[in-house]
Amino acid sequence: MSTPESIADNLARVRARIAHAAQSARADRGPVTLLAVSKTWPAAAVRAAYRAGQRDFGESYAQEARGKMEELGDLGDIRWHFIGPMQANKTQLIASRFHWVHSLDRPRIAERLAAQRPPEMPPLNVCIQININRQASKSGIVADELPGLLAATSRLSGLRLRGLMCIPDPQLDEAGLRASFAALRHLLEHSRSACPTLDTLSMGMSDDLELAIAEGATLVRVGSAIFGERQ
Ligand SMILES: *Cc1c(COP(=O)(O)O)cnc(C)c1O
Repeated sequence: MSTPESIADNLARVRARIAHAAQSARADRGPVTLLAVSKTWPAAAVRAAYRAGQRDFGESYAQEARGKMEELGDLGDIRWHFIGPMQANKTQLIASRFHWVHSLDRPRIAERLAAQRPPEMPPLNVCIQININRQASKSGIVADELPGLLAATSRLSGLRLRGLMCIPDPQLDEAGLRASFAALRHLLEHSRSACPTLDTLSMGMSDDLELAIAEGATLVRVGSAIFGERQ
């Protein structure tokens, strides 16, 4: 089990990796947001990271996240990101509790999220998940389906379309990973004329965040390098 001290140390190391990678990348790119992926870890681990200055947290299971949100209700400025597979019976919970969704992959879910977003809350920030290596049985849409999903989503007032997310095939070598991240960046660049609110490339995890930042990631999703190996 990670201690608050190890979490703070790990966070500092990850921030240094991000800063170094961002410096090595082309200078015209903006800041990189660190999303701490706290799925499977208890609320105490989230609190330790929060105390070390972390504000954005990623969760993959809606029920599990709800329990943590209740325990951490005193942390008013925390931002919750849903990054897991989206099920229709969880959209109510996601729409009412989260600030971001990274894993949108079909119009029906977009419509439910928009309808269920409480009107007093700001629009839900949304990234569309792309199955960038066209892996069988993986979440996300293939690139050809993107224009249709963008069109269906951009007219929904409860949502704000922010970007694209991918999880490349972990079997790929460095060149393959880099090519996958570059492909996601090109998709975003080509989608911007149709959808000017797109500004987010959610790509890169504990083992490949440098490659993702080199290809223009604006947000990296990092779990095990902060909290330790999941069981
Ligand atoms: C678990 C998870 C991560 C974090 O992975 P690590 O390898 O632990 O950094 C990132 N993105 C998604 C979508 C995840 O499910």
